Amino acid sequence: MATRRTTTKPSKNTPPAPVACSPCDGSGMVSATVRVGRKRRPVGQQDGLCLNCLGSGTNPDA
Ligand SMILES: [Zn+2]
Repeated sequence: MATRRTTTKPSKNTPPAPVACSPCDGSGMVSATVRVGRKRRPVGQQDGLCLNCLGSGTNPDA
């Protein structure tokens, strides 16, 4: 059984502030243009789940 050194630094008390997701601007929802037909005519927009933060509204990479 190998002994592994795991240096775990004590985390600071202040957690990092959540950074707002940029595509959805923190709302967790993004508006996607709805297109129909072969000419892909835009008929409007609908709200969809932000794929960057998956609806949490915070940047997962921050
Ligand atoms: Zn987002």
